[in-house]
Amino acid sequence: MSAQLFEAPMIEGALAGRMAEEREAIQCPVCGGANKADAIFCANAACGKALGPFAYVHEELAAKSRWYERLAERATDFISRPHFLVVHSLWFLLWLVLNTGLFAIVGKFDIYPYNLLGLILSVESIFITGFLLISQNRQNAHADKRAELDYEVSVRTYREIDELKELVQAMQAQVSSLERTIRSR
Ligand SMILES: [Zn+2]
Repeated sequence: MSAQLFEAPMIEGALAGRMAEEREAIQCPVCGGANKADAIFCANAACGKALGPFAYVHEELAAKSRWYERLAERATDFISRPHFLVVHSLWFLLWLVLNTGLFAIVGKFDIYPYNLLGLILSVESIFITGFLLISQNRQNAHADKRAELDYEVSVRTYREIDELKELVQAMQAQVSSLERTIRSR
């Protein structure tokens, strides 16, 4: 009796394993490449499509992004790197050295207090502020979209679990009635 009890789950486990192997490979709807049955993203590095049956936040936002949002993203990506500070430091140094008149090739074009440099930097800061604000709005939209899609997945999962619960309850009722029938004989 006890041997039978232990054997049953082992057989089921082996069956489940074989079923997983036999499960069909997922074909990517974008590049058409074949992926493993348990793949989350397309294995093709150039494609990388999310293979889930519901929307994916990065793809949703990329499809809706405007040209200035992509530009702002690229600009803020550069601003947030140390290269930005290095480029500016070199620029200021060169500007100051050239305007001391040490090099005879280039004449002084912006003497102290460097009004031209100040003007260029104020225009630059206006653009940087604009890019940062656009990028920030996009980050907010990103967070909102992610929350919305997470909610969608949660609701779908909840409904599936609810259906399964009802199914299990119906099966339990059937098993109980079968048990009663067998005992009454
Ligand atoms: Zn693909």
